Amino acid sequence: MVHNFNAGPSILPKEVFEEAAAAVLNFNNTGLSILEYGHRTAAFEAIMQEARQLMRELMALDEQHEVLFLHGGASTQFMQVPMNLLDLKDTAAYTDTGVWAAKAIKEAKLFGKPEVVCSSKDKNYTFIPKDFAVPNDAKYLHITTNNTIYGTQWKKIPVTSNSLVADMSSDILSRSMNFNVFDLIYAGAQKNIGAAGVTIVVVNKNILGKLKRNIPTMMDYRNHIAEGSMLNTPPVFAVYTCMLTLRWLKKQGGVNAIEKINNQKAALLYNEIDRNTLFKGTVAVEDRSNMNVCFVMNDANKEKAFLDYATQHQIIGIKGHRSVGGFRASLYNAMPLSSVEYLVSIMQQFEQNNP
Ligand code: PMP
Repeated sequence: MVHNFNAGPSILPKEVFEEAAAAVLNFNNTGLSILEYGHRTAAFEAIMQEARQLMRELMALDEQHEVLFLHGGASTQFMQVPMNLLDLKDTAAYTDTGVWAAKAIKEAKLFGKPEVVCSSKDKNYTFIPKDFAVPNDAKYLHITTNNTIYGTQWKKIPVTSNSLVADMSSDILSRSMNFNVFDLIYAGAQKNIGAAGVTIVVVNKNILGKLKRNIPTMMDYRNHIAEGSMLNTPPVFAVYTCMLTLRWLKKQGGVNAIEKINNQKAALLYNEIDRNTLFKGTVAVEDRSNMNVCFVMNDANKEKAFLDYATQHQIIGIKGHRSVGGFRASLYNAMPLSSVEYLVSIMQQFEQNNP
């Protein structure tokens, strides 16, 4: 059995793979593959509806919030958010907590005046800044709730009177929080929600339609809301896979239940990193991500040997991002506790073999 710790696209529940695979051959006993199935059919509309409803339910969203299934990845949201929320002269506050946050800032400059209110860049993004002020006139405060590359996570969502916007690509639905405090949330689906090809946007509809700018049809959230995420052909199979994963999450007991397991998985691995004489964590302890666990070896010369050892033992996807080095184990919702136990046992074996 292969243990897949990739950062995304990443592991999904086995039953999702099985159901999705079955639907490729024979969708709902229609004799047709889901890959040849029309998006304007009652069966697919029901899938889209169920996927949106499950998101609403799992996030306990109020009536003001709309759920959209879009294309283009979280990277498209880096531009689509400011395009819909800022006029050129408007300010928005951005927190610079990693490469993805920095990319969001770069795109916002095309549509308004992003102001960087805090940054951990000079410490290679190894912590989440705590003390910063948001200008009163900022149209929104943007945070990246989990920094996938560096392995840091906002444990406390900042309280602000400004609108709150979040890139939740790598920790959406992994921990309980009041999702209604956000006016806009976006996330690529390919970590906790489903297959690559879908981007989730949750938006408070009251904040839209306030700009002087003309927004291209496909970029205007209001058009996607009006058309139920079917303004054009949605990625049918990817949406189907998301719906199956959301059903699975609901069956596990939802966000509160998965959070408990996610806490257990992360604690197990961080405890081993702290205990094992060969390894050390790379970020401030209080900001450690429960989704992406980054660590290095005290002796960097041993890293290749450990990576080879792990690979021989069917552990894949733990090589760290090039900007951090070392290792990164991603522990998304679908990662079973048993695989984390197994990784820990491999770290212990390696320690015994390399005293
Ligand atoms: N934001 C975060 C936090 C991410 O982790 C990623 C991708 N790993 C992105 C944005 C970019 O997502 P996409 O590839 O879907 O554009």
